[in-house]
Amino acid sequence: KQPTIANKKVTRYILQRFGIHMSKRLGQNFLIDANIVQGIVDAANVQENDRVLEIGPGIGTLTQALAETGAEVTCVELDKRLPEVLAHTLDTYDNVRVIQGDILKVNIPEIMGDKPFKVVANLPYYITTPIIMALLEKHLPITDIVVMVQKEVAERMAAQPGGKTYGALSVAVQYYTVPEIALYVPPRSFMPPPEVDSVVVNCKVRQTPAVELIDEKMFFRVVKAAFGQRRKTLNNALKSMGVDKNIIADVLDKAGIEATRRGETLTMEEFGAIANILAQIAK
Ligand code: SAM
Repeated sequence: KQPTIANKKVTRYILQRFGIHMSKRLGQNFLIDANIVQGIVDAANVQENDRVLEIGPGIGTLTQALAETGAEVTCVELDKRLPEVLAHTLDTYDNVRVIQGDILKVNIPEIMGDKPFKVVANLPYYITTPIIMALLEKHLPITDIVVMVQKEVAERMAAQPGGKTYGALSVAVQYYTVPEIALYVPPRSFMPPPEVDSVVVNCKVRQTPAVELIDEKMFFRVVKAAFGQRRKTLNNALKSMGVDKNIIADVLDKAGIEATRRGETLTMEEFGAIANILAQIAK
């Protein structure tokens, strides 16, 4: 049986044995705390029959714990040096598949097929938001997204209207999923320790999105415009959509939303109402 990779000594040994210097640019901070790794697997409630997509396996720390459940694990790693390492560290598992590539460029439907799957990952922090947005917007058959992100991002994902952290990411995440903070993780759980605190967020993908929309694209255009100029009132911020100001005034009136409110105070339903009225006009 292979030793547990989530351990300082084992990690150091593997890196040395393969002559790997960790890349800051690729967001390489490897977990060295077995309890945290197990905590992530538990948060995702990974079972033998599950199919899991892991983004950025590194040297296989989390992958090993995922594989131990018996689930079918597919991981995508950008660093070309790592597939060779993973072939060694995970060689006792026949339920793991490693694909070398950029998660933002690989064809996920082609890799994962059309059966439901879970995404479980300790994300590279330099592209957290693009990865989460890509997973959400592509309408993949994902049931759960359980990811380690930096604490500030976790707070934005779960934020409610009214606060400074509430933004386009909050609306997008909560439109598609129900996010919950599962675990706080200190810098010392990683090698090297990152400069920020980390949080594992568990996003349960909704069966149907949080609001019923006529045109999803319109909804996200409204959200983007409203938060694009956070300090502006809605009637001004929405002008950036290229819609006439009289129409905006009319739409807000119909939606029962005061034109002088700021985007950050709007609920999902209110964004939905604006988008649906605009979509109806555009028809
Ligand atoms: N899973 C390991 C762990 O928990 O210790 C490593 C996590 S580390 C924070 C992030 C990993 O993502 C690194 O291995 C890095 O090389 C990889 N990575 C960075 N950018 C990527 C991308 N665009 N696509 C796929 N993997 C990427």
